[in-house]
Amino acid sequence: MKKADNIFEKGYEPKMKNPSLGLYIHVPFCRSKCAYCDFYSLAGAESRTDEYMRAVSAHLTEVAPRAAFHTVDTVYFGGGTPTMLGTRNLISLLSLIKKKYPLSSDAEITIEANPDSARDWKAMRALRRAGFNRVSLGMQSADDAELKRIGRIHTNAETAEAVVAIRKAKIKNLSLDLIYGLPEQSMESWQKTLAAAVELAPEHISCYGLKIEEGTPLFQMKSSLIIPDDDNQADMYFYAVDYLARTGYAQYEISNFAKDGFLSRHNMKYWTLGEYAGFGPGAHSDFGSVRYAYVRDLSKYVDGVLRGADMLSESETIPPLIRDTEYLMLRLRTAKGVNAKEFENAYREHFDALETLFEKYAAGDFAERNADGSWRLTPKGFFVSNTIIIDVLDTLAKDKESRQTKAARGDFTVL
Ligand code: SF4
Repeated sequence: MKKADNIFEKGYEPKMKNPSLGLYIHVPFCRSKCAYCDFYSLAGAESRTDEYMRAVSAHLTEVAPRAAFHTVDTVYFGGGTPTMLGTRNLISLLSLIKKKYPLSSDAEITIEANPDSARDWKAMRALRRAGFNRVSLGMQSADDAELKRIGRIHTNAETAEAVVAIRKAKIKNLSLDLIYGLPEQSMESWQKTLAAAVELAPEHISCYGLKIEEGTPLFQMKSSLIIPDDDNQADMYFYAVDYLARTGYAQYEISNFAKDGFLSRHNMKYWTLGEYAGFGPGAHSDFGSVRYAYVRDLSKYVDGVLRGADMLSESETIPPLIRDTEYLMLRLRTAKGVNAKEFENAYREHFDALETLFEKYAAGDFAERNADGSWRLTPKGFFVSNTIIIDVLDTLAKDKESRQTKAARGDFTVL
């Protein structure tokens, strides 16, 4: 592991003039741990918020000069439960960012919150006045029994109260997170959850399929749980895509839906190879052609920032030209899809073999063309995107190998 400060080449300056940059601040505190949660978050560690604040403030200050040539157009406070830090601390971190970073005047500034922690409209108003202009609320389900089964500590009534508080605070960009495939969840109850979410009139909705990760309490209980099977989960997903389209939410990514003009600008950076710098334990970054992550351990992170100890858990330099596979993997998650010309120009590759493959997928209703000629996956394709992406990467690798073999035999027309 290396110290954060050493991962950039000295004198790094981006080639593009003022390219955009997103900042991600990971707040690792939660009131209690949800049964399915695999994120780095600590329950009952409120007494450690002061040391976290010292470290993350010092870290933001330390990295700021490296962002001097960028325009920061998104800031995302995620977690964990960022609202656990308290309004004063959150405002102080955002003020620090405004002071140290070239923040654009129309930056999207998001805070994640859980319904039980977002019902104080005056606190929400204070956040809005400080500059927070988007809230991502973890509703997850409208069914209290389902919420309880996965260890959520809020109720559906509290979600409604939080939405009232957020709107009363005049926050105009609200996202609701939902989960399908929950233990004992029926299609009928999923339909009720979607209807309840739409009734709350958010600008954005995310629908994630439940993943039972090893090491979580839910994983240990797995054998005794009644989980909707793959077919039922597929039906729930397709219902959501159709219902949300009918109610004004366009799908712009596998799990994300938005009203016109309200897609998550920060999350789009992840899927379009934009630059983002993360802060806090467990935070990931892709900044200055280096992809890196900080250790999922608050003590090690604090030691790293304040006392110079190692705090990177991974770091890899990836020049733009060899990001072809990433481009395909990430862009196929989105409705923008992949564009032959863009791909060939950016990575000096051939798209022909992929063109043939996408035509095959289109025949099976797994892919379709956008108006600009890009290939995107259909909802049916999104649902099996992992398999399709493996096939796409495999096809690209075989095509490259075959071209290189031909060139080695003297046929340079293939390059
Ligand atoms: S609130 Fe979110 S981060 Fe915290 S334990 Fe639950 S799922 Fe994990």
